[in-house]
Amino acid sequence: MSTSVRIRKLPQMESLGNIYATLRLCILFLLVTISVAAQVPTPNSVLGFHPTDDKTIADWKQITDYFTKLDKASPKVLVKEIGKSTLGKPLIVAFISSAENIKNLEKYRRISARLADPRTINGDAELTNLLGNGKTIVSISCSIHSTEIVASQMSMNLAYELASTTDAGTKEILDDTILLLIPSSNPDGVQIVADWYRKTLGTKSEGASPPELYHHYAGHDDNRDWFMLNLKETQAITKFFWKEWFPQIVYDVHQQGTNASRFIIPPFFDPPNPRVSPLILRQVGLIGYKMAADLQAAGISGVATNSTYDTWWHGGFRSAPYFHNSIGILSEAASANLMTPINVTVDDLKRNRGVRGLPSPLETATNYPEAWPGGLWRPADIAKIEMTSSRSLLEMAAKFRPDYLRNFYELGRANLSPTKSDPQAFIVTAGQPNAENVSRLLEILIWQGIEVHQMTHELEIADEKHKADFHEVPLGSFLVFVNQPQKNNVLSLFEKQVYPNRVNANGEAEVPYDVAGWTLPLQVGVETVTAWSIKDLDKQAASLKKLENINQARLQLNLEPTKEPFAKPSNPLRTNPRIGLYKGSTGSMDEGWTRFVLDTFQIPFASISDADMRTGKLDYDSIILPADGENTIVKGLSADRYPAEFAGGIGDVGVENLKKYVENGGRLICFDDSCAMVIKNFGLPIKNVLDGLKRNEFYNPGSIVKLHVDTKDPLTKGIGEETAAYFITSAAFEITDNAKVRSIAEYASKDALLSGWMLGEKYLNGKTALAEAQYGKGKVVLFAFRPQHRGQSWATFPLIFNALEK
Ligand SMILES: [Zn+2]
Repeated sequence: MSTSVRIRKLPQMESLGNIYATLRLCILFLLVTISVAAQVPTPNSVLGFHPTDDKTIADWKQITDYFTKLDKASPKVLVKEIGKSTLGKPLIVAFISSAENIKNLEKYRRISARLADPRTINGDAELTNLLGNGKTIVSISCSIHSTEIVASQMSMNLAYELASTTDAGTKEILDDTILLLIPSSNPDGVQIVADWYRKTLGTKSEGASPPELYHHYAGHDDNRDWFMLNLKETQAITKFFWKEWFPQIVYDVHQQGTNASRFIIPPFFDPPNPRVSPLILRQVGLIGYKMAADLQAAGISGVATNSTYDTWWHGGFRSAPYFHNSIGILSEAASANLMTPINVTVDDLKRNRGVRGLPSPLETATNYPEAWPGGLWRPADIAKIEMTSSRSLLEMAAKFRPDYLRNFYELGRANLSPTKSDPQAFIVTAGQPNAENVSRLLEILIWQGIEVHQMTHELEIADEKHKADFHEVPLGSFLVFVNQPQKNNVLSLFEKQVYPNRVNANGEAEVPYDVAGWTLPLQVGVETVTAWSIKDLDKQAASLKKLENINQARLQLNLEPTKEPFAKPSNPLRTNPRIGLYKGSTGSMDEGWTRFVLDTFQIPFASISDADMRTGKLDYDSIILPADGENTIVKGLSADRYPAEFAGGIGDVGVENLKKYVENGGRLICFDDSCAMVIKNFGLPIKNVLDGLKRNEFYNPGSIVKLHVDTKDPLTKGIGEETAAYFITSAAFEITDNAKVRSIAEYASKDALLSGWMLGEKYLNGKTALAEAQYGKGKVVLFAFRPQHRGQSWATFPLIFNALEK
């Protein structure tokens, strides 16, 4: 709303006799409106342009400046820095609510925190009081994926609208909800994209993605980290959400491709995760339908529900809330080219190969009642959809405030009651050799608000369901009880995932949205025992000490206490090798995660550019090629779209230089996809047996598998005979010349799947997962799987470290 809207109403005044009086009233009203509006700066007045207009972009400095000015000008806005980004930028949250609520934020935060843990509430009267006085805490978060840039720009318009308008609807929202608006959960990326977009405006690269990762370590995978908490941004927001504010509704705003539906919102597609409460799923769906109805009423076509995205996987911004009894909403608007409008033709839309639940963006269906016909598509179109859906969500949060608070409380309460089908606790047993891994696992749990107890007295447990033969657990073990408000989080992190066998009519696997399995102790290489029952727990309760911080665990584990959370373990290498990590211009997430692991373990290394590969400047003991395909590595970015300095990959000359490097005694370490390029171009006697198999023969979209390890091999130091490894559409090798290639680890010959989903396991059973090939005077180490997957697979990190030793 603006003053111009009110002025336009004047010619419609009918009675001439009344016009003078009406005019006077109008002028008075206008003055009042102007005086309010004058206090609240428009984004335009601060930036010099209206955010979301074509070819404009506000960088992180401008966005934080605007929010700072809004905070100063409006009693309805309070901006807080909740941490620093990976590259040191302020990560901010704008609290938006009525002036009265903003004055009493701490009171409302406490109410939300108590509703999150029903054990803190004494009796019905107190509960009634909290439910009556609490506000619905809502978070809207923008552009975690930085090329999905519009939401970060839209956030300023949304904040301005809420702070400056005074209609009854807005008043209701401000009175009954507290909005935690996160203009971006990846500030570094907003800056990277804004700098690149401005630099390339008017060139052939205008609107292209930047030639680097838009998160320093994770790129797009910054939204795959919400249970592992590797990244500073995830850590800060997780603490803010699940140890401080406990939002009942979390909305994460994204964009999808250009030639698709215009918008995808919940309800989501199948399969649902059995650990997500049915009530959560229903509430997620209800908000999605409210958004869909409001968008339709506003004349916006091309909106799809029940498509593409599922609730199976645990690690996303909007999926983590399900495991904290909260509602998580995701929306995906069709993209423009960053802030440059595009023209989408019917032929473009016809080329869309379809997604789950939506075979074509041109065909209507019950979940897609009006197709978008194509045409001009501008950032402002995206912003309008996102503003409308944000408004829908806030209206729901305000109007149904008592229901949201009550349901949130009831879900937490239900989690405290024991059920026969669940174990009593998971136990991290004492005496494990890898203390740093144990410590990291416990820290991840404690950081997201899961309670961990330390045993100060022996306990006896039954570790099989329905059995009563108890045995002792070693003193000093850690217990994670299932019956806590975050019960589903505990179960989902500790259990083995069993993904339903979803195949199409022709037997081909239906592709899930993300990975199928993630069991945390398996990934981090920590042994746990499931305690189905604990003997005389009531009597033993006093001997259990709740861990208040990670140092209590570290001391118990004989580790140095840490000052910083998620401290970096010391360099595990015994030698001091010169390490090179290939870093092309394509922005490889696997390169980023490899860099993350090396940085985390304080292992010095240098990045090798495409140009270094082409000139053959390869003065290293070891070179790592992250998991990328041959085209990405050898051809790189297209010169049609990118300046010469970023285009062309390592080229054929780079491949020849790599060969010479190994022939002359260097060591090349290949992860997953990059193995194929090296096997082919080096002519190694190795075959990937999964190559060419159809999706009805073999399929594994991301699961934990079991390896058998040759423990006598120096490359396997610190690894047991069996280890869990991460497989994500990876490879399995057959060695055709055993004189030249050594098999160091194989996929288990049966029952190789530990957690997730694998179709046609027989194809990989017993095949090689880790090999070392002699090539000239040097060696090639080939990991068929991802030994550093998303920085999560601590179990297999030692294999990387061993391969790097001189
Ligand atoms: Zn996204």
